[in-house]
Amino acid sequence: MPPVFRFAPSPNGYLHLGHAYSALLNHDSARESGGRLLLRIEDIDATRCRLEFEAAIYEDLAWLGMTWESPVRRQSEHLSDYRDAVEKLSAMGLIYPSFESRAEIARLVAEREAQAPWPRDPDGAPLYPGVAKLLSPDERARLLEAGLPYALRLDMEAACARAGGLTWIEHGDGPDSGTGAVAARPEAWGDVILARKETPSSYHLSVVIDDALQGVTDVVRGRDLFWSTSVHRLLQQLLGLRSPSYRHHRLVLNAAGRKLSKSNAAVGLRELRSQGATPADIRRLVGLP
Ligand code: GLU
Repeated sequence: MPPVFRFAPSPNGYLHLGHAYSALLNHDSARESGGRLLLRIEDIDATRCRLEFEAAIYEDLAWLGMTWESPVRRQSEHLSDYRDAVEKLSAMGLIYPSFESRAEIARLVAEREAQAPWPRDPDGAPLYPGVAKLLSPDERARLLEAGLPYALRLDMEAACARAGGLTWIEHGDGPDSGTGAVAARPEAWGDVILARKETPSSYHLSVVIDDALQGVTDVVRGRDLFWSTSVHRLLQQLLGLRSPSYRHHRLVLNAAGRKLSKSNAAVGLRELRSQGATPADIRRLVGLP
């Protein structure tokens, strides 16, 4: 079976040099290994994703000289797949709703931090400080009936106890470890959100479901997602899904040594193209042959 690669951008802005590096690395890896290349549109977040950005993704990637298989999987068209997974985890007793607003969560974190340092996840965000897991079934039902917005969270302690110790296969140049089996540390993320009342999935959940449904064997993506793989590996184990191997690649940084942002036009593929850059120039700029 040929290896299956995928490039999975979110259409919440225009592609920049960092995306070009990741896309081309996937493209080249597929070509060199006789593998397949899929493009996936990660458009779960309806508040930030726009059709205009999606159209630009197709245009910019084609301009770079990439080809990919059709049909392209657009996550917004597969919400029932993610709902099914949430239900499965829920039936395992691993999901609970939490009702705090973002402001309440910030207040709870500030309260905790006034006493002692409060743990943060690998992205630097404070872990969920609430106690919604301890609500009685009656109280939970009352809040749900009242129509409050909620987030569905993974009970990380119970999930880790059920899954046991996990590793993933890394072929990349991750920050803390190189190639080989990396020990997953999902507990570092706390009770992550897997869905919300209005959005039946999260990045973590949909990426895991899609990689499995699409038969992806090799995930090639930025190093910024290295430790997210801990959560992905855990969800794969709980849902009985095959784990691909991972290659987390270096990030393309700006002159100040920072990660590129979608709002920085100076590194946008469209701007570079309109200034006369060729696809070969883009390859050179991101350090690819
Ligand atoms: N959609 C994610 C992003 O644009 C990438 C997901 C992945 O490669 O796992 O950052």
